[in-house]
Amino acid sequence: MAQAKYTTHLGMVDILPDEVRKWQFLENLIREEAATFNFEEIRTPIMEQTELIVRGLGQLTDIVSKEIFSFSRGEDNYVLRPELTAPVVRAFVEHHLDQRGGSQKLFYIGPMFRAERPQKGRQRQFHQFGLEVLGSSDAVADVEVIAFMIHIYNKIGIKNTTLKLNSIGDPDSREKYKEALKAHLKPNFEKLSEISKKRYEKNPLRILDSKEEEDQPFIKNAPVITDYLNEDSLAHYAKVKEYLTDLNIQFEEDPYLVRGMDYYTQTAFELISPDLGAQDALAGGGRYDLLVEEIGGQPTPAVGFAAGMERLLIACEELGIELGSEKKVDVYIVTLGDAARKWGLSQLPKLREKGVSATMDYMGRSMKAQMKDANRENAQYTIIVGENELNEGRFTFRNMKESEESSLSFEEILDKLL
Ligand code: AMP
Repeated sequence: MAQAKYTTHLGMVDILPDEVRKWQFLENLIREEAATFNFEEIRTPIMEQTELIVRGLGQLTDIVSKEIFSFSRGEDNYVLRPELTAPVVRAFVEHHLDQRGGSQKLFYIGPMFRAERPQKGRQRQFHQFGLEVLGSSDAVADVEVIAFMIHIYNKIGIKNTTLKLNSIGDPDSREKYKEALKAHLKPNFEKLSEISKKRYEKNPLRILDSKEEEDQPFIKNAPVITDYLNEDSLAHYAKVKEYLTDLNIQFEEDPYLVRGMDYYTQTAFELISPDLGAQDALAGGGRYDLLVEEIGGQPTPAVGFAAGMERLLIACEELGIELGSEKKVDVYIVTLGDAARKWGLSQLPKLREKGVSATMDYMGRSMKAQMKDANRENAQYTIIVGENELNEGRFTFRNMKESEESSLSFEEILDKLL
């Protein structure tokens, strides 16, 4: 086959029809389950103001410093959204969603963009689904968010997952911890990786997330944040653990778990799958009690998670979980001659109106070729029409799987199909 002249950009992937069926299955499932948890869908634009993302996620995060797709047009600076928490918060503030009363329970599904080095489970355009609860500081919200996340994977059949849990405290606790962490790293500062050296002053917590070999010995015996949590943070963390235990949701505490955005406070979590290889995080999230205020809203506590759709699909494939059904159509009208073709075209709407999916040949093929095409399309039934059938008003109705045929009027066929 000739090489295509135009291809997708690096790390950007076409989702072809056979794959789309799996996506639709997952999207439907997520929407249905979100409704059972009483969450409402929110959709925001693909592009946001650069300033929102920089302020929201933090200047020194990998996403903002290295991975953002940005461009300008006239005076305006745009970025392709790298995640949806900051955009959802922007929408919450912009449209005064707090005035709807209660806590806002929102979910989303859509594409995100990060200029990362592509590999399995890591793309430049990828898709996330996620939840955000705005307006509650109660540990019930943290636990409902986590419960939904795990519920989705369980529902699909991905049960071998590990929930990693940590609290990164409030800013007060975190400041104390940062000092302790810096004091611990200081004697070996010169041995740290270049990137960790850069993070040492302004964002030392991110060093804990470093994948660089030379940093590992110093991370391994670093002080743990949980020893630096103040009373409020400890109490919140204890409640989250208590409620998770009540719900029988197992978790593994990981005091070095920090997340990739600066907006997190208190609870942080990640869902890991052993079936994913190097990129083993299915989903992650946490509290972000200060973000709404940071971008100009009233102080509003919030918690959420985001999950990667591509990684969910990879896990399903690894586990042999089939998603969605194969391609099929209820009826294929096979026609011989112009009059039959005209008749076929005019019957299609009558079938579709009744909810019966129906198609016919678009290419003027022979009857034999049309039957072959009907098989390829996985048609459940064919209606075979030639001049005789038209004259008599009776058509050959064939059950393709059973290879059974009968001669019926169109009304009788409709009766059989419904
Ligand atoms: P994050 O927004 O970084 O917390 O990521 C949440 C989830 O999104 C991760 O656990 C992954 O499943 C998924 N994810 C993040 N970045 C990518 C990417 N570049 N390609 C594919 N999936 C991603």
